[in-house]
Amino acid sequence: MLNKIRANDVAMIFQDPMTSLNPYIRISDQMAEVLTLHKGISKRDAIAQSVRMLDAVGIPDAKARISSYPHEFSGGMRQRIMIAMALLCEPRLLIADEPTTALDVTVQAQIMRVLADIRRDFGTAMILITHDLGIVADACDRTLVLYGGQIMEEGPTDDVFARPSHPYTAGLLRAVPRLDRDDDELLTIAGEPPDMSRLPAGCPFSPRCAAMMPHCLTVKPSLEIFDGTRRRACHLPIEEVA
Ligand code: SF4
Repeated sequence: MLNKIRANDVAMIFQDPMTSLNPYIRISDQMAEVLTLHKGISKRDAIAQSVRMLDAVGIPDAKARISSYPHEFSGGMRQRIMIAMALLCEPRLLIADEPTTALDVTVQAQIMRVLADIRRDFGTAMILITHDLGIVADACDRTLVLYGGQIMEEGPTDDVFARPSHPYTAGLLRAVPRLDRDDDELLTIAGEPPDMSRLPAGCPFSPRCAAMMPHCLTVKPSLEIFDGTRRRACHLPIEEVA
């Protein structure tokens, strides 16, 4: 049952295309297996569909190259293959977990273009998990900021970037290096990432928050709606978030 949901409704691409494909099996067999298993079609039809999908994600000469092994492709090409494989069953939702982290900047841009084309051409909804705020700003309609596994704030991407409502988001945005600012040093958020086995009783961000108040340590802020389209979990009044 879960396998059926995974392929037909939800598919996932992972951050490391180098290790996500089986190095011993030809791409044709790895891709065809997805369709023979989940759609019950013949291997011949499965390979024909796989070639079409490789074409769609920009693998040149897909018909010939589908018989290659993973090591015969570059990192960017392997990530395209992973995307093509995830899309074979036409899922309604694609979860992309740091899909460009292992790639160089030029290839990152190409992969993000492929994902944008897929959203447009196939109508696939997408959840993009990333630490790269530049990618978020470019690719996402809505942004959800997590800390310690909990939602700190959420809203339309333009609004969140223009007017962060949570000290963690404000800190993340301040830490992005900018050419239009004459900073002597790169800004960071003080402190260490949270120990998930020992989260504070109150706000998870409290050990690192410059605006922390005594009750932040004991009272967990609830996620509240504001401005109709946004949510935040913080005791600090919005106008004091800097
Ligand atoms: S709830 Fe308190 S500690 Fe947490 S982010 Fe808001 S001000 Fe900082």
